[in-house]
Amino acid sequence: MKLPVVRVFALGGTIATAARAAKRRDAAGLVPSLSADALVDAVPSLSDVARIEAVQFRQVPSPHLTTGDIVDLACAIAANPAATVVTQGTDTIEETAFALECLLARDAPVVVTGAMRNPTLPGADGPANLLAAVQAAVDAGSAGSGVLVAFNDEIHAARFVVKGNTALPSAFASPQCGRLAQVVEGRICWFQRVDRLPALDPAKLERSVRVPLWTVTLGDDGELLETLGERIDGLVVATMGGGHVPPPMACVLGKLAARIPVVLASRAGTGPLLRATYGYAGGEIDLASRGMTSAGWLAPNKARMLLQLALMAGESDIPRLFEPFF
Ligand code: ASP
Repeated sequence: MKLPVVRVFALGGTIATAARAAKRRDAAGLVPSLSADALVDAVPSLSDVARIEAVQFRQVPSPHLTTGDIVDLACAIAANPAATVVTQGTDTIEETAFALECLLARDAPVVVTGAMRNPTLPGADGPANLLAAVQAAVDAGSAGSGVLVAFNDEIHAARFVVKGNTALPSAFASPQCGRLAQVVEGRICWFQRVDRLPALDPAKLERSVRVPLWTVTLGDDGELLETLGERIDGLVVATMGGGHVPPPMACVLGKLAARIPVVLASRAGTGPLLRATYGYAGGEIDLASRGMTSAGWLAPNKARMLLQLALMAGESDIPRLFEPFF
């Protein structure tokens, strides 16, 4: 039987790290240096599942990745019809996997993975995660499901997945609604499915848009945020609870919303924003009346990603883009 092709784009991260000696300026410690071919060669059983084409796309820790890198990656993935696996650092997978989802209008599977335990440790999880990602990439159920994230023998939807722990191999979870699937004996056992989201065209994005994420905290009067006003093109606010901010901040946000898109998400972690419950100043009804857009149940960092990509694409109807998350 002819096995399917899976392209593995390697971007670096812990999965690709090796120790290096301290140099004059650099601290000793792990840096990404294992090649895409080395990652694949370390998992001989991949050849039972697919014909792997390894691509060294970047070689960086994931905090060094930029939105431009992910836009370029989306273009490279879009240029080839094969199922795709992306390996990268775990720190930014919540955002990069979701960005790919926002940029790819295709049904061929894309599965993102990495490692929590580096290759020098007993029980390093990179090889198992890579194998699970390739198994998910060739599974018929993955087609049309949007971008997936494979860790710890679990398959998550990019739109739901969070990195919820700094060190455990079980760091990745979907607290909003649970995993989509589990990998068992090399099979993908599906529990629930999602359809892919509408996509922006990665080839049509401009690169210079500033969209910060501001987390509201107790007593925040908005004064500091106001100083950013002229320098930003859009803003995502991680609000309290179901979409609430202190009254002085509501005024600041209202002024900003008259000039730039202001999108509200919740810092609570799960659950959608409210729409019609609280009538106080800074409550969800007040903020909606001041022209802000709700991100529904989308996490603040993913909402920021979508707003940034949308503004890079010159989209003007921002509320429409957030409709799938209600
Ligand atoms: N700091 C690393 C990175 O994101 C963590 C990891 O890969 O797990 O590149």
